Amino acid sequence: MTAAQFAVFGHPISHSLSPRIHHAFAQQFGIELEYRTIDAAPAQFDAAVRRFFDAGGVGANVTLPHKAAAFALAGERSITARRAGTANVLTRLADDRLAAHNTDGDGMLRDLTERHGVDLRGRHALLLGAGGAARGVAWHLLDAGVQTLTIVNRSPEAAATLAAAIGEPARAPARGWDELDTIDSPDLIVNATSAGVLGVALQLPLTLLRSRAVCYDLSYGKAATGFLSWASAAGARGAFDGLGMLVETAADAFALWHGRRPDTAPVYQSLRRPAA
Ligand code: NDP
Repeated sequence: MTAAQFAVFGHPISHSLSPRIHHAFAQQFGIELEYRTIDAAPAQFDAAVRRFFDAGGVGANVTLPHKAAAFALAGERSITARRAGTANVLTRLADDRLAAHNTDGDGMLRDLTERHGVDLRGRHALLLGAGGAARGVAWHLLDAGVQTLTIVNRSPEAAATLAAAIGEPARAPARGWDELDTIDSPDLIVNATSAGVLGVALQLPLTLLRSRAVCYDLSYGKAATGFLSWASAAGARGAFDGLGMLVETAADAFALWHGRRPDTAPVYQSLRRPAA
């Protein structure tokens, strides 16, 4: 009998840590599985997904730039996927349709609150970015009890669209990037832009860190160093990257597919250790 088939779709995807994470989780339970990367250009994404599931694939993760396409092709969509308008998990259903889910928000919350011990209740949070990942985490931050969530995006229309979708203008307003220096001392700043991944430095006023905000970058590795260096140099109370979020979002997908939640701590620690 061949092992159950899983994959992560992206473009590019060769750098992905997901196969390593899922194989480590599977080892904890003695589960036999095959988890591979599938590089698909946007025009080939739908056909590549169909091929994978038609050949018996059980579940797939989806990353940049396909999360909106994954949401669109699914036959069933969870509430978190619908709120985000994107999906990072596809699962084959018994009737062969695909179910779309988004684990970004839960994964970030678990990393921030459980791993890093940040209490979100009553916080004034600033969300930088209004793309798929920002949409994936915005409602979760509000549900976790932040008092306000100010959404700032380079293109103001996307921030306004996200704020309108949330529908609580006093609690979750949209502001323009040029208004950043007028924002009154947030105590949590979440960077959900892809600037770091694109190798661009964000221009952020130091006044944002007057209250020594906790800073969290959804990206990790080299992509997060610009924002986290700015945060540390400007006196942030804490500066965290999104590696823990990646592991937690993977654990949620694993639990969905295998019905068991892995221990993320050893996997996170092994990814943090520099390669020998
Ligand atoms: P999207 O392409 O959907 O959105 C990108 C966002 O970044 C938009 O708001 C865009 O603004 C903004 N942006 C891009 N370049 C700049 C810039 N130079 N200055 C200011 N803003 C900029 O990407 P995602 O939302 O899917 O991903 C965002 C980041 O989150 C990525 O780095 C990704 O790696 C990370 N991520 C990490 C995860 C994890 O598990 N750790 C999970 C999901 C995402 P505009 O609208 O103006 O274009």
